[in-house]
Amino acid sequence: MVVKNNINALLAELSGSPCRLIAVSKTQPVEKILEAYTAGQRLFGENKAQEIASKYEALPKDIEWHMIGHLQTNKVKYIAPFISLIHSVDSVKLLEEINKQAGKVKRRISCLLQVYIANEETKFGFDPEEVIQLATPNFLKSYPNLEVKGLMGMATFTDNHEQIRNEFISLRKLFEKLRVMPLPSNMQMKELSMGMSADYKIAKEEGSTLVRVGTAIFGDRNYPTNS
Ligand SMILES: *Cc1c(COP(=O)(O)O)cnc(C)c1O
Repeated sequence: MVVKNNINALLAELSGSPCRLIAVSKTQPVEKILEAYTAGQRLFGENKAQEIASKYEALPKDIEWHMIGHLQTNKVKYIAPFISLIHSVDSVKLLEEINKQAGKVKRRISCLLQVYIANEETKFGFDPEEVIQLATPNFLKSYPNLEVKGLMGMATFTDNHEQIRNEFISLRKLFEKLRVMPLPSNMQMKELSMGMSADYKIAKEEGSTLVRVGTAIFGDRNYPTNS
């Protein structure tokens, strides 16, 4: 009941906004995911390739699986056949590998470019300048099996709401800048993935279209994850 109530409260909060809810189910057992599924939730986010692949096998096939964590190139093959959206594309090497694996399974895989916006040493992502440099006609030639749908970012882990807001604003400004640029035909600026349990309200106010919420739905995770 708790999971269902949390989902209903979040959906009520997001209703009327363009912001969709991704239930971040990493480390959660299949039963908890089914509880959210029964409440109507269909978008789930995970951060480990093999975990997401085994949950995909075990759960209803109308779930949209979102990869939100750092993805190693040698793990792309596990998720290429079914993944709905990879939020965490943070290097050219990874773009190349996703393009290759997408070709093997004859899919066009949707991705977001992860942008480094935090004031921390540990976070992954492209610099804003690198994203602008990727957005050329060559992008289509290099990655014909990819479909870039937008940008993703993670704010600094801090209680300073003003800092978090400024980081989200910087990502939204990059998104808007790219949106009015001539983009390659396999690159669109439609989705802006930002906001987690602690900061999704700020993210929504600053234009997020996909919030990634875990603990505010499922409670604390049982074991720490390395993302
Ligand atoms: C775990 C995770 C989330 C969800 O975090 P919560 O604080 O539990 O809401 C969101 N985004 C990414 C990239 C994550 O790894």
